[in-house]
Amino acid sequence: MIKVENLHKAFGGFHALNGISEEIRKGEVVVIVGPSGSGKSTFLRSLNLLEPPTQGKIYFEGTDITDKKVDIDKHRQKMGMVFQHFNLFPHKTILENITLAPMKLLNKTKEEAESQAMELLKLVGLEEKASAYPAQLSGGQKQRIAIIRSLAMDPDVMLFDEPTSALDPEMVGEVLELMKKLARDGMTMVVVTHEMGFAKEVGSRVLFIDEGLVKEQASPSEFFSNPKDARLKEFLSKVL
Ligand code: ADP
Ligand code: MG
Repeated sequence: MIKVENLHKAFGGFHALNGISEEIRKGEVVVIVGPSGSGKSTFLRSLNLLEPPTQGKIYFEGTDITDKKVDIDKHRQKMGMVFQHFNLFPHKTILENITLAPMKLLNKTKEEAESQAMELLKLVGLEEKASAYPAQLSGGQKQRIAIIRSLAMDPDVMLFDEPTSALDPEMVGEVLELMKKLARDGMTMVVVTHEMGFAKEVGSRVLFIDEGLVKEQASPSEFFSNPKDARLKEFLSKVL
């Protein structure tokens, strides 16, 4: 679904990514872990070209999206992205937040978009919040809305950047449960997270990013029980 070839990203003279090559296959749940500042977010944001690479290529569903001739908006629609800080529109209701993009970008009618939004709200048990504003919701509710808002665009892959890091501890579970449900339903997912339990339970593969490189990757059981890279061992000793 996504193929990354020799991805480099520099901010001025600072090299955040130093040549990552990676493939994400349909239905995989790829979990990315690593120290703060190691390039995890930059890598994730490069996948949909929120960060244009300074070198290297990214293929999405067979198309080289780093090719300047490509209409990136069309491809980006198929890549849902969920951030640490929800990014809901504060002055729009929950229903409007969910229906905006499908109406504008997929030309859905208001009726179609709203009926789909209500289905998605039911999925997460938040139908009664349809006319509420984001400020009236808890962090866990806002993040679940952000996730279903992405789902309303019918993405082929979902990218998550520390979706539970800004949440109070008692709200982490409800967001992880929704993500696990998506994984079980076959959604292709790339997830940057510090939730090692999530990585173990639903990860198809775990990648360790350090100093802008994938230093190690393995199945969750291998990754956690038999780490090889010295920096990964040190990292795991701190987070486990
Ligand atoms: P992580 O998500 O692993 O914590 P990031 O990908 O956010 O790391 O950042 C990697 C490095 O790149 C950090 O040193 C960060 O300061 C730097 N960086 C990220 N974005 C920018 C930017 N827009 N301008 C300058 N430096 C940046
Ligand atoms: Mg980050």
